[in-house]
Amino acid sequence: MSATEREVIRQRTEALTPGKRHLNRSGSPTFFGSSQRLDLQQLQEQVAFLGVPFDNGTNDRPGSRFAPLSIRDASMRFRDGIGPGWIDLEQGTRLLESTTMADCGDVAIRTVDFAENFDTITAAVRAVRAAKSLPILVGGDHTITFPALRAYDGLRIGIIHFDAHLDFTDDWAGVRFSHDNVLRRCAELPQVVGLTQIGLRGLERPSVYDDARKHGSQIISAQEYIRVGARKALAQCPTADGYYVTVDIDVLNPAVAPGTGYPEAGGLTYYQLKEGLREAAARGRIVGFDLVEVNPLFDPAGITSRLAARLILDFLGAVNLPRPSH
Ligand code: MN
Ligand code: MN
Repeated sequence: MSATEREVIRQRTEALTPGKRHLNRSGSPTFFGSSQRLDLQQLQEQVAFLGVPFDNGTNDRPGSRFAPLSIRDASMRFRDGIGPGWIDLEQGTRLLESTTMADCGDVAIRTVDFAENFDTITAAVRAVRAAKSLPILVGGDHTITFPALRAYDGLRIGIIHFDAHLDFTDDWAGVRFSHDNVLRRCAELPQVVGLTQIGLRGLERPSVYDDARKHGSQIISAQEYIRVGARKALAQCPTADGYYVTVDIDVLNPAVAPGTGYPEAGGLTYYQLKEGLREAAARGRIVGFDLVEVNPLFDPAGITSRLAARLILDFLGAVNLPRPSH
C-alpha cells in the first residue's frame, strides 16, 4: 500500500468519527435533529415529538402510517436550528432560540386492536405531560386526536381544528371510531369545552353538519376564513384553560399539499395556515398539538412532508413554551 493510499484510508476513517459535522444527509434522522429520548421517564425537554404511525382509522386511502418516518426525515432539512434557533426570513425574528426538544420515537402501534392502540397513545401523551413537556404528535390519520385528548382530563380544553372536513360523524355503518368520527368523539369528552373548526369545504352529509352546529361547534369555512383573515376568525374561540391544536394537512389546497388521503378542491395556502397557527398559539396556553393525514404514498416530490415539518416549526415558534422541568 502506498503512502497516498494510506492517507486516503486515514481520511475516510476520520470521516466516521462520532460528532463530526455532517453536511450531506446521513445518519439516523430525528425530528429536526433533536436528541432522542425513548424513555419518557427521562424526558426533560420543553418540546416532545411523538410519531404515531396509526392509519387503521382511514376509510379510503391508507398510508399515513408512513408519515412519522417521512416527516422526521424531511425535518432534518431544518436541523441546524436546534440550539441556536432559526431566523424566519419573512418575520425577521428569531425562532426557538435555546428551546429544548426531544424526539421520543414512535408510539408502539400494533395491528388491528383499536382500544389497545388508543390506550398506548393516551399513555404516551400522559407521560409527556407528566414531564411538563409539550406533546407534538405527528400522525398517522386523524383518529389519533381522540386518544391524545383523553390525556387531558381535569383541564378545560378548547380544540382548534384546521381541516377541510368536519370529522363529526356520529355513527356510519356502525363505525364510531375512525378519522371521520374523531372530532365528534373528542367533543363528547368532558374536558373538551369548545371546538373551533376552520377551513371546511367540500360536500358533507346534512346530518353531520347539523350535528356539529347543534353541538355548538364554531364552523368557519375555508372561504370565510380567507375572507375575514386569521385574526378575526380565531378571535371567536371559546375561553378555555388550554388549547389543543389539531391540523389535518388536507386543510391546505391540494396543489400545496398533495400527499394526503382525502384531497379537497379549494383550501388554504401555506401562508394562510401559518397565520392561523400563529393566531391559535396566541389564544392562550397551548397544551398539545398534532399534525395528521400526511400520506407519503401520494407525495412523490416529498413536498407535503417537508411542508408539514415547516408548519410544526412555525407553530412552535409562536407558542409560549413551558419552562424546562429540570
Ligand atoms: Mn380532512
Ligand atoms: Mn380530519
